[in-house]
Amino acid sequence: MQDLLETPIEFLKGVGPQRGELLRAELGIATYGDLLRHYPFRYVDRSRFHRIAELNENMPQAQLRGKLGPLKTVGEKQARRLTATFTDGSGTVELVWFKGARWIQQSLKPGEEYILFGKPGIYRSRFNFAHPEMELAATWEQGLSAALQPVYPTTEKLTAKGLGSRALWKLQKTLLTQVMGRIPETLPPSVLTLLGGMPREEAIRQAHAPTDRHKLDEALRRLKFEELFLIQLALLRQKELVRRSVEGHRFAQVGENLNTFYRDHLPFEPTGAQKRVVKELRRDMGSGRQMNRLVQGDVGSGKTLVALLSMLIALDNGYQSAFMAPTEILAQQHFATLSRMLEGMPVVVRLLTGSTKAAERKSILTALRLGEVHIIVGTHALLEDRVQFHRLGLVVIDEQHRFGVAQRARMWAKSEVPPHVLVMTATPIPRTLAMTLYGDLDTSVIDELPPGRKPIRTVHRFDSSRNAVFGFLEEEIAKGRQVYVVYPLIEESEKSDLKHVMDGYESLSRRFPLPKYAVGIVHGRMDQATKDYEMARFKKGETNILVATTVIEVGVDVPNASVMVIENAERFGLSQLHQLRGRVGRGAEQSFCILMTGDKLGHDARERIGTMVRTNDGFEIAEVDLRLRGPGDLMGTQQSGLPQLKLADLVEDAALLQQARVVAQRLLEEDPELAAPEHAPLAAALHAGGQAKVVWGRVS
Ligand code: ADP
Ligand code: MG
Repeated sequence: MQDLLETPIEFLKGVGPQRGELLRAELGIATYGDLLRHYPFRYVDRSRFHRIAELNENMPQAQLRGKLGPLKTVGEKQARRLTATFTDGSGTVELVWFKGARWIQQSLKPGEEYILFGKPGIYRSRFNFAHPEMELAATWEQGLSAALQPVYPTTEKLTAKGLGSRALWKLQKTLLTQVMGRIPETLPPSVLTLLGGMPREEAIRQAHAPTDRHKLDEALRRLKFEELFLIQLALLRQKELVRRSVEGHRFAQVGENLNTFYRDHLPFEPTGAQKRVVKELRRDMGSGRQMNRLVQGDVGSGKTLVALLSMLIALDNGYQSAFMAPTEILAQQHFATLSRMLEGMPVVVRLLTGSTKAAERKSILTALRLGEVHIIVGTHALLEDRVQFHRLGLVVIDEQHRFGVAQRARMWAKSEVPPHVLVMTATPIPRTLAMTLYGDLDTSVIDELPPGRKPIRTVHRFDSSRNAVFGFLEEEIAKGRQVYVVYPLIEESEKSDLKHVMDGYESLSRRFPLPKYAVGIVHGRMDQATKDYEMARFKKGETNILVATTVIEVGVDVPNASVMVIENAERFGLSQLHQLRGRVGRGAEQSFCILMTGDKLGHDARERIGTMVRTNDGFEIAEVDLRLRGPGDLMGTQQSGLPQLKLADLVEDAALLQQARVVAQRLLEEDPELAAPEHAPLAAALHAGGQAKVVWGRVS
């Protein structure tokens, strides 16, 4: 039964070797089953016919029935095109083809009655249709017609070879007649009932040849559910597998360092959320299995303290920790913060980055190997093979999205028993995405900000009101506050961007002159020493304004800085804007974020800016970001490991995904091995689908 769906596509009537090869190369369709899984991306309602007299140019599409006039070639060279008239008794429209004249002349029959479908436009005060879909009225009536017509994804090359959307539809219909009655069910009866009971075969048929809107919706829901369900099943099984097979260090001890720190060194009372997350980490690390936990916490929620507490737990159990940051500036800052908080305690913290001097590096490496360093803070430099530990027990990765999967795997390899892994991110990952991406990781959320924070006030200002903005900066500086002014420098090599930053720096220096004011600058193309120097000056309050590129995007913590001006804000993505804004609002003072843009904004830019002005909620922002950019882009496609979804959409079908997850969980609780006979098709589908590719748990 399965075999039929494995039949090579070239054997389907109307395909043959040549087109078969094309389908394989262009769309990855190699078998009957592949073709069936090549679903339409939309459906057009062709139940309604329009009359030419009632056309208007705002119609997205119109369907006419009428007579085709003679075909004429008009215009010279580049402007050469094929035209014809089309009449239905209520009026006449003009048809035009700019390409494919020869093929159209061969296939269309002037004088015959046609069904025409396309978008009406106006040219020289007359309605016209460019490249309309044309079908002889006689054929139309004979069958290949439906009220709801599927539109298939195809490629230019395929279309040129006569395999456009309609041809694909024809193939689907041919195939459906052959395979009906032979498409097996995958979902067990209990799950199927939950979904309204449409069998898989019927759902597939409805997807390609819908009988009505209602049935189609039901079919698509079922197919999308199945897609999401299989992914969730695979992820959850993977997670269970790791849980059972990967041993971890058992941190059973509640020890001296943690207690002392808690009693004498805590600079502030941890928030409820911080306490809860630490408790979760502690439970994981004490379980005897390897921890793989993602901690999400909005900017400023206090992730550093959580990291520190978990590293102290490791230390109390005799293990070393590595704390990795994505940038040098951040690593230094973490090092400074930890050193400050741990002052007076017998905890040895060292910093290792790309710019650590050779002699110092050597002594650090030796001390690490001997176990004399308890906490090593650093950048990618920690990944190098020569960095060896005495007993590495915990790896904390700050700002996960900058670290690729492979890099995490390298940390894993530094210890025979894999270290516990704590991944921290301030980029809130929308729940739906987290579920798909990290379905096999445990997640914790720090969903509470330290008390006394005033929400940052965000405004949008046009470049034309720059003077007023400068006036405002002056007032804030007079109150003792500090200001960031950030410029986009997307590619650190882009010359014109760099020029903007420098120009901005110069004009700010003129507007806020020495000796009354001091303006500093940092950008990625400066050498490390200069960057450090500038950052340190700003931290100490020696500069009032820091002109910067996105090098300060992540993690930089200067509580006295209360104003963030973002230049060319329209050029930043939402999550980046949110990160940047998170650099202020860290002290008790009211903070401000000013988004500067040009006068003209595109639709997406307006929505991004509007979202920033409306809300401070990182999760809400992440949802909008996901909607605007799509999931792959959000995570960086190559490293995202996102499974390819054919039908479902992580944004639109969030509720369905949630349901799929719950149902998958329940099913695995009952039958973890999918051993029951009614689950055999599921097990087979999982196997065939290759969903096991998603192996986050193993490498995190
Ligand atoms: P994140 O890394 O989550 O963005 P940080 O760890 O840098 O946040 O903390 C942001 C600021 O809040 C820091 O200045 C930190 O000292 C402070 N902070 C953290 N936790 C608390 C708390 N429980 N109470 C008061 N301030 C806190
Ligand atoms: Mg941080």
